[in-house]
Amino acid sequence: MSNASIEVLISEVGPRDGLQSIQSIMPTANKELWINALYQSGIREIEVASFVPAKLLPQMADAADVVRYAKTFPDLTVLALVPNLKGAEAAIQAGVDKITIPVSASAAHSLANVRKTREEMIEELKKIIGFRNAHAPLVQVEVGIATAFGCTLQGMVPEDEVIWLAEQVIEVGVDEAGLSDTTGYANPAQIKRLFKRLRNAIGNKAGAAHLHNTRGLGLANCLAAYEEGVRSFDSSMGGLGGCPYAPGASGNVVTEDLVFMFEAMGVNTGVSLEKLFEAREVLRLGLPGEAIYGMVPEAGLPKGFSKKGSI
Ligand code: ZN
Repeated sequence: MSNASIEVLISEVGPRDGLQSIQSIMPTANKELWINALYQSGIREIEVASFVPAKLLPQMADAADVVRYAKTFPDLTVLALVPNLKGAEAAIQAGVDKITIPVSASAAHSLANVRKTREEMIEELKKIIGFRNAHAPLVQVEVGIATAFGCTLQGMVPEDEVIWLAEQVIEVGVDEAGLSDTTGYANPAQIKRLFKRLRNAIGNKAGAAHLHNTRGLGLANCLAAYEEGVRSFDSSMGGLGGCPYAPGASGNVVTEDLVFMFEAMGVNTGVSLEKLFEAREVLRLGLPGEAIYGMVPEAGLPKGFSKKGSI
């Protein structure tokens, strides 16, 4: 299985989005076993941690150690989430390949999540880009436009504001901007409309789809995004994840189900489903008592299933 033929990039966000949203704290050794198992399955981009004060998120207190461990794997893009310049400095110091910064399209969510207005976040991005350019020009900077499809706090988020924000972040030097359905409000028609507008606005700087399965539309939304030309998808093993500041938001798209969908369609993800299921067991052992979701791992692969869509 060669990376060159990968048609869709699966970016695993479980070690960050998943682990920061649950009560249990996974020990560093278990995180390492899990990252190793994910890598062995063929996953080549992992969001391994977020760089936030340990008193706010004790689940992420070992972020720098986890980054250093993940950096030992060849050809693995090691990603960390950072909310501000301080986090970016720490992540870059730890050696990440890429940082991702959530910028909320919803004014209310922005204040709740990072205690900044959207305009203040743009200013913070300028500082982060300045630091990156001066100290680590090879580190990629990605923005995920959070609550792009609706917000549990303010309800509707105007599409014009989402696109305005994407244009602003690219203008200050961010490498790519993707869209996040933080709250699981999106539907396929909306996904197609907004990703099309995003591409029209910022061209090939349009980034990943980060979609949640809160209302059962996660895979349908991923397919809609794929049909609109999106080729990079965030997902979480076992559907772990949500957002602690978006009440009621739970569950990223399940990596196992997403990989199955694409592989069954004959779209190469570079990921082995069998090895992905082994990684799921490693996750389960590291999180005793936590709910691990996913339809395909429970039901099993169809009889005679092989990649390339033929069964
Ligand atoms: Zn998420």
